[in-house]
Amino acid sequence: MEALDAIEHDVDASFLPVQSDPELRAVYARWLGREGAVTLLMRRMPELPGPERKTFGQAINRVKDKVEAAKTVCEQRLREHARALDLGREPLDVSLPGRKPRVGRLHPLSRMMYDVIDAFVAMGFDVAEGPETDWETNNFERLGFPPDHPAMDMQDTFFLQQPDGATGPRALLRTHTSTVQVREMLSHAPPVMIVAPGAVYRRDDDATHSPMFAQIEGLVVDQGIALSHLRGTLDTFARKLFGERVTTRMRGSYFPFTEPSVELDASCALCGGSDPSCRMCKGSGWLEVGGAGMVHPTVLKNCGVDPEKYTGFAFGLGIDRLAMIRYQIPEISLLYQNDVRFLESL
Ligand SMILES: [Zn+2]
Repeated sequence: MEALDAIEHDVDASFLPVQSDPELRAVYARWLGREGAVTLLMRRMPELPGPERKTFGQAINRVKDKVEAAKTVCEQRLREHARALDLGREPLDVSLPGRKPRVGRLHPLSRMMYDVIDAFVAMGFDVAEGPETDWETNNFERLGFPPDHPAMDMQDTFFLQQPDGATGPRALLRTHTSTVQVREMLSHAPPVMIVAPGAVYRRDDDATHSPMFAQIEGLVVDQGIALSHLRGTLDTFARKLFGERVTTRMRGSYFPFTEPSVELDASCALCGGSDPSCRMCKGSGWLEVGGAGMVHPTVLKNCGVDPEKYTGFAFGLGIDRLAMIRYQIPEISLLYQNDVRFLESL
């Protein structure tokens, strides 16, 4: 009974320092756990004679109730404390602006390409595509390149490795999209009116050249096609793309696959030729946008088209070049580095 009195005396105080649920469970177990002080005394009850056992049993029950009551009080205290902490915490501020998800958009080169294609499709052109690897016959020979033409040299063209002992035409990464013109003429009888957009590859790498760049070429073959059609087509195109104020000019040039051949310039969209220190046109008032010409009769013949009956014109435009003009970008490599800060500034 003395031991029980001592326990009864300590119960309330034992729960006072409790600060957490695990601590609560530990203190409770100290009294009523399997090895708890009250439990151990309870086990000794059978040792007592009848009448004393009854008195002792009642005392045990009283102490047990006291432990349970102290536990309940302690639980209550912990709950209230947790709630007070929760209320004291900084509330959720629903007026804070949310985080915007980053939305992707078209790369300036893709946008440029789509706009260029749209301009030609509006004039009635079909879009034709071809493989980026092709045979040297489609890339050079059928287009009338003489066998010693420097462009066929390893310096300018990425040839694919030949299997050992292979003969016949070599495969290469196309150096222009003219390969699609060849394929189109070989597979379709005139009239042909196509633009061929896509990536082309050359062994160039400097501020205004990249080893891979995007090009779009056009080809029109029919009866009675003349240089004036070419001129009108490109003029319409330039005005659609750069605005009504823009005019074009042609300068005589040379390409193996056209005769006559011309370089196509557009008037400077930035200064219109009025600013001698213009950083776009360097004061000349003109920007080079591509090459063009009347399809050489030999090329028509090489591609199965009768040059006595049909004539045609072809042109090639550098998409990178057009994008550099539109967005006023000084370095072509900026278009390929995919620096989001730069791309977002356009
Ligand atoms: Zn200018």
